[in-house]
Amino acid sequence: MRLPKYKCENCGYEESLDKNMYFCPKCGDPLTIVYEENELQEAVFKGKGVWRYKNVLPVNSEKPVTLNEGGTPLHESVKLYEEIGVKELRIKNEGLNPTGSFKDRGMTVGVTRAVELGARSVICASTGNTAASLSAYAARAGIKSYVVVPEGAVALGKLAQARAAGAKIVKVRGNFDYALKMVRSLAAKTKETYLLNSVNPFRIEGQKTLAYEIIEEYGSPDWIFIPVGNAGNITALWKGLKEMKSIGMIERLPKLAGVQAEGASPIYRAFVEKKEEIIPVQNPQTIATAIKIGNPASWRRAMHAVKESGGVMLSVSDEKILEYQKKLSSEEGIFVEPASAASIAGLAKAASQNLVGKNDRVVAIVTGNGLKDPDSLMRINAEEVVIDADMESLKQVING
Ligand SMILES: *Cc1c(COP(=O)(O)O)cnc(C)c1O
Ligand SMILES: [Zn+2]
Repeated sequence: MRLPKYKCENCGYEESLDKNMYFCPKCGDPLTIVYEENELQEAVFKGKGVWRYKNVLPVNSEKPVTLNEGGTPLHESVKLYEEIGVKELRIKNEGLNPTGSFKDRGMTVGVTRAVELGARSVICASTGNTAASLSAYAARAGIKSYVVVPEGAVALGKLAQARAAGAKIVKVRGNFDYALKMVRSLAAKTKETYLLNSVNPFRIEGQKTLAYEIIEEYGSPDWIFIPVGNAGNITALWKGLKEMKSIGMIERLPKLAGVQAEGASPIYRAFVEKKEEIIPVQNPQTIATAIKIGNPASWRRAMHAVKESGGVMLSVSDEKILEYQKKLSSEEGIFVEPASAASIAGLAKAASQNLVGKNDRVVAIVTGNGLKDPDSLMRINAEEVVIDADMESLKQVING
């Protein structure tokens, strides 16, 4: 059996996986890991979570660095599907991963690779969840983690996770795009520390298991909606879906809808303006900090995925993001962070424009747990009263 290898999907460059690489030396795009058709078709799935798909993951370790990631619930929508106007809506709750976001799927594979390479430390730039995840897996592997974050722009819960895990937290006076640029240059110059942003192809491999799980449980929906920031996850989702087709698990691929926040939507812009290249947003703004990214590293692969699937890029306002964050909780019981609600807000918009039809079966990915970033919800109107500590007062509240 031939082994998987690196491939640049932009220019076709190929290299053996023995090398430690992240980017194509010819064109600079992030590398992808590809398998021979027969390697996929011979795959056997066994067990639970991400490592159920061990046969189609590019690490050999018998002892992966794991916290039992993946295997997240695909909730059936009980209310929003009707309100939005689709036949079925399933909500894939990635906030129930070990550190509270889908990043764990990539980190279990990425940190396992780091250990295989003998790396003594790992590093990432992060809007928060990558830092929370990397620091936890590094702690488990017993290696040092460095997380480079934009100062003052990371949700409290995420920062707390990285602090607890013992990461060295480097706060940059600048936004995420600067932080990523800096760690990319560092990783290009030194072999000491291993880079674990989503430009790392091993992370994409772990994250593709999101698609495998949806297909195994639900088959192929008509549409999948997913929030887009640096665009690694939509890249991974599409890769996983196509592999499931090669394996013969599905005949028809779903359409993808990538959803960006209005103030950070360079891929959406290029999509609607039919441009070949994105124009980075210099000063991205959105309440959804996990997708507050102006220059997405994997934009080309995201654009390709959306177009190849016959899908769309969408953008949603912060107002709609907050509205659907609240609705996910109050109508479905699912508590997510703002970036996650972008997928549902995007679906509502697509349905109102008849992009998605009444007979469509839809899966929406919600990417991160609401406990990480509760700030915005403390500012909304909620049913709250303060009473004296006596039974009469309580009875009055209950009886109206
Ligand atoms: C990282 C993240 C995203 C964006 O994913 P990309 O791969 O950067 O597009 C969306 N939501 C949450 C909660 C995240 O942590
Ligand atoms: Zn290339």
